[in-house]
Amino acid sequence: MKIVVLSRNKNLYSTRRLIEAAKERGHEVRVLDVLRSYMNIASHKPQIHYRGEVIENVDAVIPRIGASVTFYGTAVVRQFEMMGVYPLNESVAITRSRDKLRSLQLLSRKGIGMPVTGIAHKPDDVQDLIRMVGGAPLVIKLLEGTQGIGVVLAETQKAAESVIEAFMGLKANILVQEYIKEAGGADIRCFVIGEKVVAAMKRQGADGEFRSNLHRGGSASLIKITPEERSTAVRAARIMGLNVAGVDLLRSNHGPVVMEVNSSPGLQGIEAATEKDIAGMIIQFIEKNARLNSTRTKGKG
Ligand code: ADP
Repeated sequence: MKIVVLSRNKNLYSTRRLIEAAKERGHEVRVLDVLRSYMNIASHKPQIHYRGEVIENVDAVIPRIGASVTFYGTAVVRQFEMMGVYPLNESVAITRSRDKLRSLQLLSRKGIGMPVTGIAHKPDDVQDLIRMVGGAPLVIKLLEGTQGIGVVLAETQKAAESVIEAFMGLKANILVQEYIKEAGGADIRCFVIGEKVVAAMKRQGADGEFRSNLHRGGSASLIKITPEERSTAVRAARIMGLNVAGVDLLRSNHGPVVMEVNSSPGLQGIEAATEKDIAGMIIQFIEKNARLNSTRTKGKG
């Protein structure tokens, strides 16, 4: 097969591993920098060009779209869909999962467990917002943050009020969430391919840190997940419409709660923690499922 990996940098671990796994299995693979790809959206013959060349006869595309290039990146994936190319994750699903508010609303609509969560932009009654989600301690998140930046634990009502007011001053969308203390500064990353959790790791925050992000000094280890956690992760990925997803869960007293569903989950941490060939499993999934003109939306989304 001819496989395209859409990635900004071919030296990133995840991109390198996907190239390696595709080659090992006898495929032709090429990395395109999504921002350097340009498109002709003519109705009869949609095309993608790259450095003066027409990109043709591609069987499958693996989007590795960073959060900062979601808008243009999903347009390129959509263009591949219009050309009939099989995308590992469809553009609409990526767009859906990148919108945190939309994702949480979709998940809650289908009864997926999540921390009690409030969404606000400029509430007039901050105390009511706090009451609405059960009072302090609370986790308050800046919606635009990644890697744990802009995620604050407010232990008291007063602290919660001042953090919310400070975030409101930034004119940002904020998320106010029940603090899952019993998670003990750890979360679980479930790596979903198709309808299966193929690997799971526990990420534990550094001492005294409630955020488990590896970028903040957290450490990863192998973990055995429960059937309930497994089915929650699979359902969350399915609701998003993602074939491949990293579903982040917390272990709460009321069962597994989903924090986030990631559409371009990194391979480095999970392959290291589990010693599994996740890149190989992704390529195998493509071999089994890639058909031309088989996307659900054909670029309509
Ligand atoms: P980001 O997307 O920036 O990584 P997250 O929402 O994933 O932000 O939060 C970062 C980390 O903080 C999580 O991995 C988790 O360990 C911790 N955390 C987030 N929300 C909660 C919560 N409601 N209760 C307990 N811990 C939380």
